[in-house]
Amino acid sequence: MSSTALPRVREVDVAPCVFCGILGGELEASIVLDEPEVLGFLDLHPWSTGHALLVPRRHAQHLDELTEAERASLIEAGNRVSRAMRDAGLADDVHFVINDGPRAAQTVPHAHLHVVPRSRHDRRRMLARLLTAMVPPLWKRSRDDLDRTAATLREALAQAPK
Ligand SMILES: [Zn+2]
Repeated sequence: MSSTALPRVREVDVAPCVFCGILGGELEASIVLDEPEVLGFLDLHPWSTGHALLVPRRHAQHLDELTEAERASLIEAGNRVSRAMRDAGLADDVHFVINDGPRAAQTVPHAHLHVVPRSRHDRRRMLARLLTAMVPPLWKRSRDDLDRTAATLREALAQAPK
């Protein structure tokens, strides 16, 4: 029996994928960006206000399981979201973070790019967030709060020059 015709899968996950649930509209999210290749929404437990997650529409766990075009779309969308964060006054600078696999702190098995706003005066808050990272309920934001921030980012994205 040959397995050469099978798709390359490195991890078998039996739990349903939360991000595919959001992509399919079955789970709630505060949408920042909705494009043919990429969906962007806010992290429920943000490291800072506006912390966005960008995901390819096709389920794949690792970056190298995406096509070159999907990877390019992800980075390009991240770049535009980071600009919107700056334009909206949510960030001076940003972290772009990809945790590529479960042993690299990837908690949802669907490739995603974190875009995390940073500002001049947030070092103390980020330290507190880091020290309590294992207690997500501390940092959970309400849907209303996330929806307001998402609307701010969508507006900044709509106003950005193409
Ligand atoms: Zn998925």
